[in-house]
Amino acid sequence: MEQNITINSEEEYRTFLKQLPKYRGLRGRFTTFAITGTVHAEELKDFETALNLKKRRARMTFLFDRACDIIDAYNEANGITCRYNSEGICEDPKHQTRKNGCCCHCYLQSSTGCPSRNLSCKFYFCDHICKKFHPLTMEDIDLLKMFNRSELEIIKNNVFVTRKTYINLLCLGSYLLFCIYSIVKFYRIKNVF
Ligand code: SF4
Ligand code: SF4
Repeated sequence: MEQNITINSEEEYRTFLKQLPKYRGLRGRFTTFAITGTVHAEELKDFETALNLKKRRARMTFLFDRACDIIDAYNEANGITCRYNSEGICEDPKHQTRKNGCCCHCYLQSSTGCPSRNLSCKFYFCDHICKKFHPLTMEDIDLLKMFNRSELEIIKNNVFVTRKTYINLLCLGSYLLFCIYSIVKFYRIKNVF
């Protein structure tokens, strides 16, 4: 089955976002989507790609990487970055004892920064950075509406894991399993530092 969706106004775009749970539901699995329109062209292309990826892992991987790319591009365009001095101390006056900034508690940290990619970490900024700039929040990225409530809770809280583990947890999609995993993860972190 094929479904053509045309979006030519902000109102139609908002209505489309509200209908996403229906499009990504059971019927959507057997539907090929063609989405066109004159507003939010980039977002519409992303939604079309995501909705046409029927395998869960492929869809989760695409959504994860696209959301990371959107945040990276925004931060680069707006000069949003944590700056460190030669001793690796970040510019936030409240955290002058932290070498490697917020990554200092993570067992993945390396001398060259994060060795992986983590969507939850990309949303985290301290008050110092938030006052100086306006980093994106989860509400600012429409593509995240492709995730259900349980997956969004995982995205809110899934710091300190590699890209591969992150995508595995999204594929599982169970908030209960995620909570159990998080307890084990933080016990491990506690024992490392
Ligand atoms: S978010 Fe703030 S505290 Fe964390 S590394 Fe960046 S500047 Fe430092
Ligand atoms: S996973 Fe997060 S906390 Fe760990 S090194 Fe990467 S960005 Fe830092």
